Amino acid sequence: MSTDQNKFQAIISHCKEYGFVFQSSEIYDGLSAVYDYGQYGAELKKNIKDYWWKSMTQLHENIVGIDAAIFMHPTTWKASGHVDNFSDPMIDNRDSNKRYRVDHLIEGHAETLPEAAGNALLAQMDELLKENDFAGLKSLIEENKIKCSVSGTVNWTEVRQFNLMFSTQLGSVTEEASEIFLRPETAQGIFVNFLNVQKTGRMKVPFGIAQIGKAFRNEIVARQFIFRMREFEQMEMQFFVRPGTQQEWYEKWKEERMQWHLSLGTDPAKYHFKDHIKLAHYADAAVDIEYEFPFGFKEVEGIHSRTDFDLKQHQEYSKKKIQYFDTEINQNYVPYVIETSIGLDRMFLLTICNAYEEQDLSTPEKQDSRVVLKLPAKLAPVKLAVFPLTKKDGLPEAAKILIDECKKFFHCYYEEKDSIGKRYRRQDAIGTPFCVTIDHQTKEDGTVTIRHRDSMEQERVPLSEVRNIVLNKIM
Ligand code: ATP
Repeated sequence: MSTDQNKFQAIISHCKEYGFVFQSSEIYDGLSAVYDYGQYGAELKKNIKDYWWKSMTQLHENIVGIDAAIFMHPTTWKASGHVDNFSDPMIDNRDSNKRYRVDHLIEGHAETLPEAAGNALLAQMDELLKENDFAGLKSLIEENKIKCSVSGTVNWTEVRQFNLMFSTQLGSVTEEASEIFLRPETAQGIFVNFLNVQKTGRMKVPFGIAQIGKAFRNEIVARQFIFRMREFEQMEMQFFVRPGTQQEWYEKWKEERMQWHLSLGTDPAKYHFKDHIKLAHYADAAVDIEYEFPFGFKEVEGIHSRTDFDLKQHQEYSKKKIQYFDTEINQNYVPYVIETSIGLDRMFLLTICNAYEEQDLSTPEKQDSRVVLKLPAKLAPVKLAVFPLTKKDGLPEAAKILIDECKKFFHCYYEEKDSIGKRYRRQDAIGTPFCVTIDHQTKEDGTVTIRHRDSMEQERVPLSEVRNIVLNKIM
């Protein structure tokens, strides 16, 4: 295993050990590609959500947020093209019965080749995918003698399309029941509400509608922990613009979304843009923001210029006019759309991978190490841990007074067990930016020791200033 793979395995174990992410229904041996967030994971996830929501809705006066239902009228998915087009080319190995997404199978093989050969293979694959040339893809797999990792054979079926939507029944009586889908993206909930929001909010183009919510995809190859899940959450924003201005807005949102990522203090070298080679059926331009995960540069967010495709399709299928009257130019039109779509779970994984550090703190006298999550303070699940030095002499009481004063503003944690050093390590492991120790001197002069997670520096500050020190860092 490479060091990066080792690091990734260590991150997965860390997420479990410290209550960030658990396998769903683990006591029944789990459900593949479905995960639960534990006590710290749920906090971190919520903080990421809030940071995105605020940056969209509070910091832009022309963007509002909605919360649409997961279930939608089945015609929605006919109109959006998902019933006919939301599928991936798949291939099965006849000996192992294992099914692969064709692009993943070829990409996996390309990684084992020298760089130039790998790139040439990927270029050939991209060309065939663009043409939907399934026979060509199968030949490419055969020519390159790409084997199934389970059976080790090259006994492949034809390449076929496989729809990724989950379906279920609505209605109690079988005859009445109709098939509906679990939404594979949150965007359509925004499109079908375009007029509702525009009219009731008296919104003027250009304006945006944001939404955070669950999406479901029957991913065939689910790997890499929470990178690719069957149930996940998206944070999407559809920005409605005047036709002809979409290129300009696309560039603007590309820039703005990258700035959002960098505002969390991540090294810019860890990010890049990757233009889509094969455009989705609705797009006239599309780019991914990719982050360098321990398993390579991978998509975390997509920015798509979706044209007027979705609104026009809903107009046609619902037979209701979905148009906007632009008073500035005295014209009716169907707006064009720029979409920014980021996976909340992927952003969570990115945040953890970016924060995770194993540090060797050994000195000639003593061996020592720590695992620290250098999370941005505003995202950390716990902001302040408070430790009484001992369990007596009124120190726990003083610690609890500080917590009572701070807990209305941010998440605090109280701990009186074990040595201060051990308590620090536990907080480092969950990314708590500040620890405060209450000792006997506190009772004499009202000062405490505040310890900074990343530098491990400690300083003496007045107890009365602790709250503001933390608030300054997390706002
Ligand atoms: P991929 O190519 O990785 O399957 P995609 O291009 O299909 O992703 P989009 O449809 O553009 O993804 O969805 C927008 C975002 O939703 C992605 O950038 C990703 O962060 C997130 N996302 C998509 N599918 C999943 C999934 N199965 N699990 C977790 N997050 C996902």
